[in-house]
Amino acid sequence: MRFYQATTFLFPRSYERRILFVCFGAVHIPLIACIVLQAATGHWQLDTLLTLLVATLAGTVMGLAAIHALLAPVGQATLMLQAIQMGERIQAIPQGADDLVGRLLSGVTIAANESAARIERLVDAAERDPLTGIRNRRGFLDSAEQVLRGRSNAVVALIDIDHFKRINDDFGHDTGDVLLKSLARRIEDHLRRSDIAARWGGEEFAVLLPDTTLDEARLVMERLRATVALDTDLGVEDRAVTFSCGLAPVRSFAQLGDATKQADAALYAAKNGGRNQVQILGL
Ligand code: GH3
Ligand code: MG
Ligand code: MG
Repeated sequence: MRFYQATTFLFPRSYERRILFVCFGAVHIPLIACIVLQAATGHWQLDTLLTLLVATLAGTVMGLAAIHALLAPVGQATLMLQAIQMGERIQAIPQGADDLVGRLLSGVTIAANESAARIERLVDAAERDPLTGIRNRRGFLDSAEQVLRGRSNAVVALIDIDHFKRINDDFGHDTGDVLLKSLARRIEDHLRRSDIAARWGGEEFAVLLPDTTLDEARLVMERLRATVALDTDLGVEDRAVTFSCGLAPVRSFAQLGDATKQADAALYAAKNGGRNQVQILGL
């Protein structure tokens, strides 16, 4: 460490140049010694000096090129560590031999894997609803942004359990929680893999159906509504569980906010219309 510290004045911002400079000096020692000796004795042997000069130059070029190449993985490892620090994903980390550089690269691999796993856990915690395990509102919007990229015919559905408060009041909050979990699973099971379901908040769920027309979405949600209303496993004691649903078309991610408001208005109409129904505003 002491030599390292002592030589920082040479090239304070380039470790590689410092090594190259030291090697450059070391390679020239025989040539300098020969010149000093010949000057001291006054015996100039120009052919020896010329041979030594050419050999020194060739050795310098080869040595510097080889050291530069040998240091490349260290530079690469440093850049990868910087990328990991900034939370970026590293695609492929080169493998080294069983030496210092190899151990450095495997250290970077471990750091990259740990950081990727940590980022995944954090994103998951931030985007999942802890009770039901499905996406929360943030997760919904994040996934919707990706899914809606370049698409223009999607439908958003807002689902709200009917008289959920009564279930809480009559059977307790824990029973209400179980119902929320069960309904979340029913919704996800009912959808395609490309659809996005989320707990929008409280006893409300949101669903995004990409590449779907309003008519198709209405069929899908009607089928889900009927399945849930008839599902005796979902009901609490002899009370059936129903939900109301509002649908609206989505043309782009930028328009999703407006579409959600429209679906919310349709949901309100479904509640006013007597609940346990799917509504599309303006139809
Ligand atoms: P409506 O048919 O008009 O939608 O009536 P509702 O009773 O379903 O709606 P309201 O908004 O009056 O009540 C929703 C209830 O949902 C109130 C709130 O305590 C309950 N709730 C919200 N989040 C949770 C939760 O995580 N667990 C449980 N058990 N209840 C919750
Ligand atoms: Mg509600
Ligand atoms: Mg409700």
